[in-house]
Amino acid sequence: MTTFSDLGLIEQLLRALTAEGYTTPTPIQTQAIPLLLQGRDMLGIAQTGTGKTAAFALPLLQIMDAKRIKAAPRCPRALILTPTRELAVQIGEGFKTYGKHLGFKHTVVFGGVGQGQQVSAMNAGVDILVATPGRLLDLMNQRHINLQHVEFLVLDEADRMLDMGFIRDVKVIVAKIGAERQTLLFSATMPEAVMSLAKGILRNYERIEVTPQSTTVERIDQRVMFVAREDKRKLLSDLLNDKTVTRALVFTRTKHAANRVAEHLAKTGVSSDAIHGNKSQNARQRSLAAFKSGKARVLVATDIAARGIDVDGISHVINFELPADPESYVHRIGRTARAGSSGSAISFCDAEEVADLRAIERATRQVITVDTTHSFHAAHIATRSERSGGERSKPQGQRPQGQKPGGGNNRGRNNRGGRGGKPWDNRSQAA
Ligand code: AMP
Repeated sequence: MTTFSDLGLIEQLLRALTAEGYTTPTPIQTQAIPLLLQGRDMLGIAQTGTGKTAAFALPLLQIMDAKRIKAAPRCPRALILTPTRELAVQIGEGFKTYGKHLGFKHTVVFGGVGQGQQVSAMNAGVDILVATPGRLLDLMNQRHINLQHVEFLVLDEADRMLDMGFIRDVKVIVAKIGAERQTLLFSATMPEAVMSLAKGILRNYERIEVTPQSTTVERIDQRVMFVAREDKRKLLSDLLNDKTVTRALVFTRTKHAANRVAEHLAKTGVSSDAIHGNKSQNARQRSLAAFKSGKARVLVATDIAARGIDVDGISHVINFELPADPESYVHRIGRTARAGSSGSAISFCDAEEVADLRAIERATRQVITVDTTHSFHAAHIATRSERSGGERSKPQGQRPQGQKPGGGNNRGRNNRGGRGGKPWDNRSQAA
């Protein structure tokens, strides 16, 4: 089995990894580290949870260490661009952990907070800058940050940057960086726009693809519970009575809904917190800390706020509301089953969400198991059980290696016509 020292990492990094309890490199680390140590550009198709932060941070630290150049004030040597503040903070923590025996200065720059500390850090000289695009551009325009000495550029979660409307900012930022650089681009999915961005900024790059989305997806026990919208809160409370739900991340579509669910849980005596874009950065970090420490058993989150939540041991992801796009579903459920462990994802689906559910099943090429075990919602799905046999079949997510989700071949989906009755009726006949 490959070890970190087989990958050619220096002793200072190996020591830090041992202290973290990392014994074996993850697949993306095994593939990416030797390539990156050779100075190659890379396109990495991987999602959060695969160990990709260490996959780029370790070689980057090692190459920077070998060069021994001191960063000038305001001029970072490495830039990591990432879509959200949470991810930025998390990547910053990664650099701190892995680089603790190397003595580089790193800082994290993101919006929603005062810029004073970020500016003073930059003035003092920063080797590694982790930033979200908006604030970075802002500080660049104010001449607090200059990218002309950047030797390493990492674009993390490029697909999400695209979704969040950051691509223009990213292009403006990249245009300020000299061509003499090593560039890495990571994305969980490869829509056309990300591919063309990649082609525009990478040179002679190596493409590596680990854990195609299905791999994480397949490790997760996914179930769907059909429930009327007005009964969702009761169903949630019922589920949380189950002691095997040790740490649950609950997703809603809107900030408002997140607050309402958290309030409901508080009333029923469940320790929980909500995290969304309207909360201050400090409030979010506090909620995350409470969730990490176990003080709050449940965290209610919106998609954007939850992006990059890196909490180990999430036993359950509960989709209180289904996301509008399948990619968010994959990102959401990927919060459980981190770093090789397993986990459960339970989705509540009301009549209006059936189309979303189908889109998810199509994109992930699986039929999500319908869970009728719960006494509470059994009444609500009575209509369903009449219709069909195979609805408790296990997810059939396997697809041939390298095949992308959503590429046709919708197994068992030959009966999708509009029938009468409850909207989810069609589905079970197909299942
Ligand atoms: P990432 O994909 O970078 O967000 O990493 C996902 C999680 O896996 C983080 O909690 C890391 O600390 C952890 N991790 C990364 N690499 C390893 C490894 N080789 N062994 C054990 N845990 C790891």
